Amino acid sequence: MKYALKVDDLSKSFGDKAAVDGVTFSVGIGEIYGLIGPNGAGKTTTLRMIATLLSIDGGSIEVMGMDVASESAGVRSVISYLPEDAGAYKDLTGRAYLKFMARFFADGGELDDMVARAIEIADLGDRIDSKVDTYSKGMMRRLLIARAIMPNPKLAILDEVTSGLDVVNAYEIRQLIRELAASGVTILLSSHNMFEVEMLCDRVGMIDDGRLVLEGRPSELMSRHGAKNLEEVFVKAVKAK
Ligand code: ATP
Repeated sequence: MKYALKVDDLSKSFGDKAAVDGVTFSVGIGEIYGLIGPNGAGKTTTLRMIATLLSIDGGSIEVMGMDVASESAGVRSVISYLPEDAGAYKDLTGRAYLKFMARFFADGGELDDMVARAIEIADLGDRIDSKVDTYSKGMMRRLLIARAIMPNPKLAILDEVTSGLDVVNAYEIRQLIRELAASGVTILLSSHNMFEVEMLCDRVGMIDDGRLVLEGRPSELMSRHGAKNLEEVFVKAVKAK
């Protein structure tokens, strides 16, 4: 199978508002694909439909060859979705939270291995045994990423994963995303950080007003638009409307 994700003519409305309006794109296995676009463009709505959390009005989505609408259980078994506003149970320690979440996927020795791997990914040192409500934003995000990655998804869907993080935390999370992709995990992310998208993503799709208005490798988009960086491409595309 060539593609991990195929989105075809996808649409979704909320009342009269067409939040997603005929979006088509596909993501190859092991590719890092970035969705960019202004506030309210339809990125999160698209990600939520791919993650089986929101019904589709029109079009179709295939994840690893499975149809999101008719094979949603199969799709859920191969994806992991980390929403921008995700949180963890604050009364638990980081370790207890990971153990609690791992029970949805495994038991016995497999569960222990999964938790050990997640603790390694979170890389929180001794603080893994502190309560989650004492964590900084960066620590919390590392814990949530570890939770998202521990079941070994084939497709990881990450909404604004480094938003609000300091330089080192954001850098390390980007490194982790690169390592994941190199190990064959497909990554679909959304971001407002054009520097991040330019450095990290193999390909980028820009959504504006529910439509995919640009797509390509960051370098292609920059040369096509005579721009020095992706931020300039973005601004030119929005202003050209
Ligand atoms: P941001 O970058 O600000 O997170 P986004 O690109 O992720 O924006 P969406 O959250 O997908 O945008 O929203 C797309 C449009 O759909 C917006 O106009 C938003 O107000 C609307 N919308 C999203 N969810 C709902 C909902 N549950 N009910 C009504 N309207 C919604």
